[in-house]
Amino acid sequence: MLDIFQKTLLKDFNFEGIGLHNGEKSKVTVKPSKGNSGIVFKRTDLNKDNIIQADFTNVHTAKLCTTLINSSGTKISTVEHLMAAFYFTGIDNAIVEINNSEIPIMDGSAKDFVKLIKEAGLKNLKEKRSFLKIIKPLDLVDGEKRISIEPSDFGMEVDFKLEYKNELIGNQRNNVKFYHEDIVDIYSSRTFCLFEDIEKIKANGLAKGGSLDNALVVKGNQVLNKDGMRNSKEFVNHKILDLAGDFLLSGHRILGKIKCVQGGHYLSNIFLKKLIKNDTCFVKSSFNNIKIIKKDYENSVQKLAVSA
Ligand SMILES: [Zn+2]
Repeated sequence: MLDIFQKTLLKDFNFEGIGLHNGEKSKVTVKPSKGNSGIVFKRTDLNKDNIIQADFTNVHTAKLCTTLINSSGTKISTVEHLMAAFYFTGIDNAIVEINNSEIPIMDGSAKDFVKLIKEAGLKNLKEKRSFLKIIKPLDLVDGEKRISIEPSDFGMEVDFKLEYKNELIGNQRNNVKFYHEDIVDIYSSRTFCLFEDIEKIKANGLAKGGSLDNALVVKGNQVLNKDGMRNSKEFVNHKILDLAGDFLLSGHRILGKIKCVQGGHYLSNIFLKKLIKNDTCFVKSSFNNIKIIKKDYENSVQKLAVSA
């Protein structure tokens, strides 16, 4: 069931790795924190103005990754996969200390983060979660990209569709109910790119740390990674993972059905801004007033999913 109370970690955990875009190595320590403090990034390589709150209003750029900025101009980028891991494991409050400007990409998914959070353990806090229950539909169209939200009896539900000319990616689509389904394929799905786009992305100064160890690379009708794909919908599943991370930046647990076609970090961010402004579309509520259809899934992955 959806938990009414906020959670943090039981103890610290550490990881290190390279940034997908800056190619630099960094060390990260994630620490427990108090209720209502949210997710906070702290740049330990800087002596002042080094705190950045994980909030959708602090999104600076959302091109190929989500970058947050504080009022002094201090940035932290590629936060979305770690944020998604916080979403799926149910972490509401944590301090992420990092000695660089980009969260390590790890294997390109949120799998390592979920494992580390599970190993550290979760602690219940006395503060209640803030739920934002959708009561009226809202949509946003940006060229060929579309995103909408509508009421749902299933908590958070995402229906995502990709429309790629590439024959392997094609029109992948998946519909996932976060609180009712096995989400291991979602958090294990890696970021991806087309082989022909790599030169263009690198010419823009991005993806300096990109490799077959941290991204699926698609050429024609095959992936160049020697072990192939982790699941048959890995491309669209990764987009759903990104969306989960970007939506946790709202500061609420949103309860509604999101439909998205060709979206990404930027679309998610401008849609969140529109949604929060349109306050007739939702009610803010404690758990007691929210009715969600419950189903009995008892495996461990499901327990993970429903704690979010
Ligand atoms: Zn991603």
